Amino acid sequence: MNKILIVEDNEMNLKLIRTVLKAKGFLLAEARDGEEALKMAVAERPDIILIDIQIPKIDGLEVTRRIRAIDDLKDRQIIAITAHAMEGDRNKILEAGCDGYIAKPINTRTFIDEIEAILKQKDERLKDEG
Ligand code: MN
Repeated sequence: MNKILIVEDNEMNLKLIRTVLKAKGFLLAEARDGEEALKMAVAERPDIILIDIQIPKIDGLEVTRRIRAIDDLKDRQIIAITAHAMEGDRNKILEAGCDGYIAKPINTRTFIDEIEAILKQKDERLKDEG
């Protein structure tokens, strides 16, 4: 069973994401700011981290960089959630170490498919790299 850490400071979005993922049977952990996100990533060792970029204390990109620098966590799936999915932002998100991103507002009907598509892309990339 996959464990997912949701990092989101907006209660409405958090509730939405929690509801969708719970219905799919995922184990969940939650954080509402960057400091908490780092603590939870280390303590909970989630398989997948869904991270809002605009969060208090440490922003989502910096949290991603720091998680990638932790040996134990560097191979986790990290998916950004962002309202700023412009081309330049997309590059910044990928450069920080995210495997992909999902644009806000969240569409509950396609959310799981979007996550699965990003995970599948990563699998294929890793296969290509041998
Ligand atoms: Mn936010």
